[in-house]
Amino acid sequence: MKNEGPEIQISGRVSGTGPWYARPESTPNQLKASKIKIAQSASLLLTKQLSIVANKVMRSKAHSEANPQISMTCEACDLKCQRFGTHRNGLRRFRCLSCKKTYTEPHQTLGEMYVSEEKVLLAMQVLIEGNSIRSTMRITGLDQNTIIKALILAGERCEKVMGRLIVNVPAKDVECDEIWGYVQKKEAHKFPFEADDKNIGDAYCFVAIERHSKLVLNFALGRRDTATTQIFIEGLRHATSGKQPF
Ligand SMILES: [Zn+2]
Repeated sequence: MKNEGPEIQISGRVSGTGPWYARPESTPNQLKASKIKIAQSASLLLTKQLSIVANKVMRSKAHSEANPQISMTCEACDLKCQRFGTHRNGLRRFRCLSCKKTYTEPHQTLGEMYVSEEKVLLAMQVLIEGNSIRSTMRITGLDQNTIIKALILAGERCEKVMGRLIVNVPAKDVECDEIWGYVQKKEAHKFPFEADDKNIGDAYCFVAIERHSKLVLNFALGRRDTATTQIFIEGLRHATSGKQPF
């Protein structure tokens, strides 16, 4: 289809309008200068692209050397899949020829994170030592969101370990206390329309400690109400042995 409207002079690199430097007022010297400029920027772009490609090749090479031969079978069709390029993180992709479903080669992830385990462990150690999330970002080079995700994952797993290992502990004296904290703002500073919002305001952490061994038997985080107390006491009952009342 042909454009019927008035012809517009475009002085950009648009296909069909010819090279942008071939304007009628350009003198041969200007032409030469602009050609050199184009060549320079093109070579710069090329070296950049080459370095990116080299980096990618190095990465995929290192990965392929780790496990050179790999084949994937489609779960639905039970057919061998064909190679289908690489993922942006360097992992190899495969595609089923019949149903066109794509797969990524087997890989280990930490939750939904693609970062190495050593880096996450370092981040956790640094956080435990009292560093802030931003300082952990600077030390490890990880992203803020990754650190928060890793922290949540670590917390969830620690809770599981605690629930599995700290059971039927023969406790003699148990000390229970509450630690006050708040999310976003203190309870008294909440606006009337925020009064019912349970996600902001005061938050209490109930902690039960065995007096002699200083073992934390249980904790519960929530509002200072009956529900949190019930959960806390139930957990404490689970953690301590019923034979030895304290
Ligand atoms: Zn398939």
